Amino acid sequence: MAGRKRQEADDLQVYLDKALGMGAADARVIKASTIRCESWVRLKCQFGCGGYNKRLTCPPFTPTAEETARVVACYGRAILIHADDNDIVNEIVPKLEREIFLSGRFKALGFGSGPCRLCKRCNTGALCKYPYLARPSMEACGIDVFTTVRTNGLDIEVVRTKRQKGDYYGVILVD
Ligand code: SF4
Repeated sequence: MAGRKRQEADDLQVYLDKALGMGAADARVIKASTIRCESWVRLKCQFGCGGYNKRLTCPPFTPTAEETARVVACYGRAILIHADDNDIVNEIVPKLEREIFLSGRFKALGFGSGPCRLCKRCNTGALCKYPYLARPSMEACGIDVFTTVRTNGLDIEVVRTKRQKGDYYGVILVD
């Protein structure tokens, strides 16, 4: 059983290494069942975030926590990616998602961190200009990032001051 587990982690090791090579601070294979989806997360986007309703990758354009939970339940494994910058996460996620997909894992589906910043202004009345690159953030889809990350033994703290460095996460549902 332990051997099988190791083999399952090993077959995704190449993507963990690539994430690290692209600037991630950490990347690990996690059980998709540890991804926690909670209804309150969306309200934190709606009340208290200036980005609400401004980007196609943010609420109200993104799936609810309940919809995301149903999607997550279709998967066994995921790759959790940690970086000290939103942009690093958002560059890694679509690239790796594509590589994983092309390797034959056709269900690969990525979620980034924070609002999409690919366009200066997002035209929310039209289709996305860069659909191959823009991914919704974990939190925009109702994922409780804090609990998910801590459950998997990684660090994340509430940012209390402008000087404090944040922890940013993305996740790719694999298979
Ligand atoms: S790529 Fe541009 S159009 Fe698409 S979500 Fe991001 S900002 Fe909006």
